Amino acid sequence: MYETTYLRAASLDEALAALREHEEARPLSGGMTLIPTLKQRLAAPSHLVDLTRIDAMRGVSVESGVDGDVLRVGALTKHAEVAASPVIAAAIPALSQLASVIADPQVRNRGTMGGSVANNDPAADYPSAVLGLGAQVLTSQRRIAADDFFVDTFETALEPGELVTGFEYPIPLRAAYAKFRQPASGYAIVGVFIAQFADAVRVAVTGAGASVFRWFDAENALATDLSEAALANLKIDRSTLPEDANGSAAYRAHLIETYTRRSLQALLAQPLRQPA
Ligand SMILES: Cc1cc2nc3c(=O)[nH]c(=O)nc-3n(C[C@H](O)[C@H](O)[C@H](O)COP(=O)(O)OP(=O)(O)OC[C@H]3O[C@@H](n4cnc5c(N)ncnc54)[C@H](O)[C@@H]3O)c2cc1C
Repeated sequence: MYETTYLRAASLDEALAALREHEEARPLSGGMTLIPTLKQRLAAPSHLVDLTRIDAMRGVSVESGVDGDVLRVGALTKHAEVAASPVIAAAIPALSQLASVIADPQVRNRGTMGGSVANNDPAADYPSAVLGLGAQVLTSQRRIAADDFFVDTFETALEPGELVTGFEYPIPLRAAYAKFRQPASGYAIVGVFIAQFADAVRVAVTGAGASVFRWFDAENALATDLSEAALANLKIDRSTLPEDANGSAAYRAHLIETYTRRSLQALLAQPLRQPA
């Protein structure tokens, strides 16, 4: 039997105080990962601190940043809300499209961007957008650059008791996401997010490592020649890729190369974003 106390925080301060007070407490957002984890008896927190009533963790807006416009998305924004938001579709359509292919309608209507990124499942979709766009992860204490956030499988730079409150995405000229989905769950067996900025191209791969990672060779090739030809002879290092029930390292390498090309094709089919 579990002895878990459910607490509903009305504010960020209340949630942080509860997490400080109870060392074995866990924050709860959409519950789409945490509740199945509890049901499988893989975690037994003393308290569940429900974040879903915290207004400070909501909202979607485009704001002027030091280096240009940024898209701000509150951590509690559900996948279905990301997929349907006209603000997100206008700023970074690839993010809407990515959200629309997460899991199924039930999961998309409960799961949140903050919960997914904090969880850092190696096959989750959002980490590829956060890393591919070079976003800032906003927390209850600080802002963390995407390059420093994803540490290892289910491990991030978050300290105990630190909450993800939102995200700041630099708005690219163009971006695209392509994934080969696990047919039962929808998780990425391989997913590739590519973002084109005025001064750089970023390529982030999910589903094919301990955690999401950047494919630097592809970035360098595309930085000098943003075309399919630049990828023609590019091979990813097979020795770093996982072997599991979903496929061998060689199969994953093939998928990464194929889905990088598909993601690039989708990016090149879009018009360049014009500055506001
Ligand atoms: C059947 C099924 C299919 C799925 N398919 C996919 C898929 O195709 N692609 C994909 O990307 N995901 C998939 N998911 C996962 C889903 O997207 C979840 O929504 C997501 O992983 C977790 O988000 P959540 O809001 O439900 O978080 P929760 O389950 O509430 O929390 C997840 C973890 O993060 C912590 N946490 C929650 N919020 C915060 C916060 N703000 N700050 C710090 N820590 C926090 C919790 O303590 C917990 O450890 C699937 C899930 C299911 C059940």
